[in-house]
Amino acid sequence: PLVLGIETSCDETGVGIVRGHTLLADEVASSVEEHARFGGVVPEVASRAHFEAMVPTVQRALDTAGITLGDVDAIAVTAGPGLAGALLVGVAAAKAYALAAGKPIYGVNHLAAHVAVDTLEHGPLPEPAIALLVSGGHSSLLRVDDLAGRVEPLGATIDDAAGEAFDKVARLLGLPFPGGPPIDRAAREGQIVIPFPRGLTAARDLVEHRFDFSFSGLKTAVARWVEARQRTGEPVPVNDVAASFQEAVCDVLTAKAVDACLAGGVRTLVIGGGVAANSRIRALAQERCDKHGITLRVPRPNLCTDNGAMVAALGSHLVAAGTTPGRLALPTDSAMPITLVTA
Ligand code: ATP
Ligand code: MG
Ligand code: FE
Repeated sequence: PLVLGIETSCDETGVGIVRGHTLLADEVASSVEEHARFGGVVPEVASRAHFEAMVPTVQRALDTAGITLGDVDAIAVTAGPGLAGALLVGVAAAKAYALAAGKPIYGVNHLAAHVAVDTLEHGPLPEPAIALLVSGGHSSLLRVDDLAGRVEPLGATIDDAAGEAFDKVARLLGLPFPGGPPIDRAAREGQIVIPFPRGLTAARDLVEHRFDFSFSGLKTAVARWVEARQRTGEPVPVNDVAASFQEAVCDVLTAKAVDACLAGGVRTLVIGGGVAANSRIRALAQERCDKHGITLRVPRPNLCTDNGAMVAALGSHLVAAGTTPGRLALPTDSAMPITLVTA
C-alpha cells in the first residue's frame, strides 16, 4: 500500500511516504532551534511551528515521492503519546487531507511507529521480537507478538527516560540541547574511566525490576562528580565524563534487552527511538547480540529520531494486516499506552 504519514508529537513536523516497505519520501521540519535557548521543548512554540510547517512539508513529501494526494491508499498520523497541542495540529491536518481526498485514516501510536520504522530498512519484523524503545520521553522493553496490535510492556524506566538523561547530563556539561548527539561526539574523544552507577542492576533489583530502568541516580552521580571537580578548581574532563556516562546508560540498556530476549526465547531484538541513533548503544548491542545468536535490527540514525516515515511505515503495516481504519473523529491521546497500536 501507498501511505502518507504525519508526525507532530513533539518538535518535528514529519511527513513520510512509503510504498509497502519502501521509503519514497521523508521530509522533516524541526523547530528545535526555537527551543534550544530554553533547554527543552516549549509546547506552544512547537504547536505553532507545526501549524506553519504542515502544508509545505506535505507538499515537499508528495513532490519528492512524485505522487499526488489522490494516489495514496491511506493516511496515517500520530495520535499519541506526545504534546497535546502538537498532536492536535497533526491529527487535524490528517483528517482534512483524508476528508478532501476520500482516503481512510489511521491514528497510530508514536512508540509503535519508532519500532515499525525498522521495516523500511530491514523488511518485515520477525515476530515475536523484543523491542528496546529508547527516546526523549520513554525507555521501555516490549515484547512484540504482532506489530499490528499485540505489544506487551515487559518493563520501563521508573524515573527519567534515557534520552532525557542524555539531555540533562549534556546541560550540566555545558553541551547544547538536545544532548544526545554532542555527548555521542564528546564520548568518542574520551575514555571510559569513571565508574558511574548502573541503575536497577543490584541482585535485589533484578528480582523486582528485572526489565525496568532507572537513570535519575546516574544523572545525580554525574552532577556530584562534576561538582566535586569544580570545587577543587580542577578542569572537568568533559569527554571522559561523556564517555563514562554514555557507557553506563548503554551497558544497562543492552544487558537488559539481551536478557529479555534470552528469558523469552526470542531471537530478534529491534532498537528504536532517538537514543538508538547513539553510536555506542549500536556497537554494544551488536557485540552482545552476536555473542548470544540474537539478530539485531537498528534503523539508520536519521530514522531513529522523530520523522514521518515511521508513521507511514506503521500505517502501511496496518493496511497490509487488514486493520480497520480509524474514524474521521478519531481523538488524540497525549498519554496513549503502548498496548494501543492504533487509536
Ligand atoms: P518520545 O518518542 O518518547 O515521545 P521524542 O519523540 O521527543 O520522545 P525522539 O525524537 O525519539 O524523542 O528522541 C529524542 C531523544 O534522543 C533526545 O533525548 C536526544 O538527546 C536523543 N538522541 C538523539 N540522538 C542521540 C545520540 N546520538 N545519542 C544519544 N541520544 C540521542
Ligand atoms: Mg525532537
Ligand atoms: Fe519519538
